[in-house]
Amino acid sequence: MVNPPVWRGSTHLYDDVAHLRDGLRSNDDGRFFYGRRGSPTQWSLAEALTEMEPGATGTMLYPSGVAAISCALLAVLRPGDEVLLTDSSYDPSRSFADAFLKRMGITARYYDPLIGSDIASLFRPETKAILMESPGSLTFEVQDVPAICKAAQAAGIVTLLDNTWATSRFFPALAHGVDIAITAATKYIVGHSDVMMGAVTTHDQYWTRLRRTAQQLGQVVSPDDAYLAARGLRTLEVRLRQHETSALQIARWLKDRTEVGLVLHPAMPDCPGHEIWKRDFNGSSGLFSFQLKDANDQSRAAFIDALTLFGIGYSWGGFESLALPVDPQKHRTATKWNASGALVRLNIGLEDPEDLIADLAKAFEYYHSAQS
Ligand SMILES: *Cc1c(COP(=O)(O)O)cnc(C)c1O
Repeated sequence: MVNPPVWRGSTHLYDDVAHLRDGLRSNDDGRFFYGRRGSPTQWSLAEALTEMEPGATGTMLYPSGVAAISCALLAVLRPGDEVLLTDSSYDPSRSFADAFLKRMGITARYYDPLIGSDIASLFRPETKAILMESPGSLTFEVQDVPAICKAAQAAGIVTLLDNTWATSRFFPALAHGVDIAITAATKYIVGHSDVMMGAVTTHDQYWTRLRRTAQQLGQVVSPDDAYLAARGLRTLEVRLRQHETSALQIARWLKDRTEVGLVLHPAMPDCPGHEIWKRDFNGSSGLFSFQLKDANDQSRAAFIDALTLFGIGYSWGGFESLALPVDPQKHRTATKWNASGALVRLNIGLEDPEDLIADLAKAFEYYHSAQS
């Protein structure tokens, strides 16, 4: 068969007591033990994700991207530690750090996503980890990940990267110095908006700790979900290329509209960190934001409501286009977001980009009526 079967099951039966004891001793993937440790369906997906990340030892799977982020942080932090997070962090990452980690006696401090090697000036003796996200998923600042990792490594600080936007395909994280690469597989890996999943890939130094923490926290994904994620993974390359081409075409079209100010797409010069994107990335995906220069909340809503091919909803990375009003000023503490007007975030799906452009053009007519 081409594909691994869906191995469903909690209990694995052993031939005899000797084999039972042998299973208990071994704690490596690739061997049945008990359902919580997975089956060949999950292992083959984890193995494929590891192979896509040069320098990696292994990958753990989680039931969501948020579970992947929180379990990765829990694997490397202990009470008394401090973690530095980018001010452009995905909001649930902030919430986990500010509420849950705080209760455990771990402090969180936020840094300017454009800080680069100056991050070293923030280091304290208790600073033990840095959680980066590049680009940020609302405002798309591209971080100097290699410079931040170099400074962190010199200070013995572990680096984690939320790499959901690029995936290892467009940004091989470990090869750029990152210790722990996190992906919300819900987005591009799954690709069809039908499964929640997270993945964390790391090298030798942190692999055992990451695996043990996931097992101690009882993290497991269903074989059916793993099967669907593996099916998504097989077309990742062609989907990403189409998302890239269509998103660039639409971003350039938007840039020429008089209503539009900044186009925050890492492959466009407006985007903070665009030069770093050019230096470090192998491509760009389908998610970006743009500024409606003179909009208020109401006229922005009129614009989004007028779209017929773009759905209104959270998440992204699927085959369907989505539009979302985003307000980064609500999620910042270390930096200010001062752009005038209002931001719209687009997930460009796999529809014909000409159809999407026609839909956007029509929405601008509704926007003008709402503005006047
Ligand atoms: C969606 C997302 C996550 C969380 O993934 P879920 O599977 O929805 O929990 C994490 N980071 C980024 C950048 C995301 O966009």
